[in-house]
Amino acid sequence: MMPVDPEIKIVRSRRKTIALIVQSDGSLLVRAPLRVTQRQIMDVVQQQAEWVRTRQEAARQRAAAAPPKAFVEGEIFNYLGQPYRLVIANAARPALALDAQAGQFRLVRAAQPGAAALFDAWYRRQARQVFTERVAFYARQIGLQPQKLRISSARTRWGSCSSRGTLSFTWRLVMAPLPVIDYVVVHELCHLQVRNHSKDFWNKVRAIMPDYKERARWLRVNGHLLRLD
Ligand SMILES: [Zn+2]
Repeated sequence: MMPVDPEIKIVRSRRKTIALIVQSDGSLLVRAPLRVTQRQIMDVVQQQAEWVRTRQEAARQRAAAAPPKAFVEGEIFNYLGQPYRLVIANAARPALALDAQAGQFRLVRAAQPGAAALFDAWYRRQARQVFTERVAFYARQIGLQPQKLRISSARTRWGSCSSRGTLSFTWRLVMAPLPVIDYVVVHELCHLQVRNHSKDFWNKVRAIMPDYKERARWLRVNGHLLRLD
């Protein structure tokens, strides 16, 4: 039998079957019914060990295809699903700017050593704007209002909804296409009404966004690309 990674996250809910999900970072997520024992879960994981290992290997290869950014000329950075080439300029103001028309990010050479922080801040600023706008749009459509909007830097938790009605979204999502961003927005907004992932919840999401599954799939496949490091 193949050894099983001890790093397994188990999420229990009122579902009927055990589902194994290899996430974009290669970690294993197990969704399980409330009543099954840890032992039963591990049995299923053992039975599926070969499948899990294959999926994890694929996830690792995809991650290797997206090496950390070096912030050098010609490197590609995504914004709202569009690729932009990095150009290093001798003089520029501000130190980092997007020239969408030219299809490029412009970074001043003197700021190159601090480029990671500049990009981080740039994406965060855009995220605040984009999410404020998209949340307002869908909140109106659904007919509810979140208490607060928070921008996080989470790597795999794309969004969350607190019991106090605060919606959080990671700035990394603004690298993704708008339809994907909208899916996460609708998902979290629906959590204001239904806290769990029950049938009720998914029906609500589907009513607003019939093609939500495709959008969610994009995140599972490409989520690991939404990073700088
Ligand atoms: Zn959710």
